[in-house]
Amino acid sequence: MKVHETNDPGCRCKSTINLAGFLARSSVNGPGIRPVVWVQGCPIHCEGCFNPQFLSFNLGQQVTPSSLAEIICAQKNIDGATFSGGEPFTQAHALGDLGEQLREQGHSIVTFTGFSPDIVLKSTRPAWKRLVAATDLLIAGPYISSMKCNDPWIGSSNQRIIPLTDTITLPASSTHASGHPAEFTVHPDGTLTATGFPDRQFVKGLTHRCRGDS
Ligand code: SF4
Repeated sequence: MKVHETNDPGCRCKSTINLAGFLARSSVNGPGIRPVVWVQGCPIHCEGCFNPQFLSFNLGQQVTPSSLAEIICAQKNIDGATFSGGEPFTQAHALGDLGEQLREQGHSIVTFTGFSPDIVLKSTRPAWKRLVAATDLLIAGPYISSMKCNDPWIGSSNQRIIPLTDTITLPASSTHASGHPAEFTVHPDGTLTATGFPDRQFVKGLTHRCRGDS
C-alpha cells in the first residue's frame, strides 16, 4: 500500500498517546539532552526499519499529553523533548497537544517522521498542522537502506533535518559529529533501552545479560 496522509490507518483524532516507549534522558535523539517519546504504530514500513517492534498499531500504554508533560517537565537540565516512533504523525493531535504544553514551559521539540518533508509541511490536516506548529526541528523522510549514511541523527541521506523555528541551534557542520552513536540505558528493573543506531546482535546479547539470562 502506498501510504500518504489520507489513507494512513493510524491517523485518528485521539486525545491520548499510544505510547511504545519513553526514555527520560537521551543525547542521541536530536541536539542536547532530551526525553524521548516513542509512539506505537507506523504505516510506512521502511525496509530495514530500526524499530520494527513499534510498527504495529496494537495498543501500547495509553497516556494523556498532560501526564506525560508533567513527567517531562520534572526532568532536570534537559534541552527539550523528542517525538519518535513508530510514526509521530499518526498521533499528531495528541502529540501536538503535548508539544504545545512543553513549549509553554520553555522546552523545544524535535519530531522525527518517516513521511517526506513535502507531505508533512504541505498537509492541510488540522492535526498535522498542529504538530508541525509545535515542532522546532523536523527530521523527515523514510529510511532507505541503500542510502545509509553516517550522520548521527539520520539513517539515510535522503532524510532531511529542517529547522522550523530558530529555537534549536544546530552544531556547525565542522563540529557536527559523524558516525552513528548508540546509547544504552539499563533501568532499575533490569530492562534495557537501546537507542541511536546500535548493532542488533549486540543489543540482543546485552538484553540477555541485563536480565541475568544464562
Ligand atoms: S518511518 Fe521510521 S518507524 Fe516507520 S518504518 Fe520507517 S524507519 Fe521504521
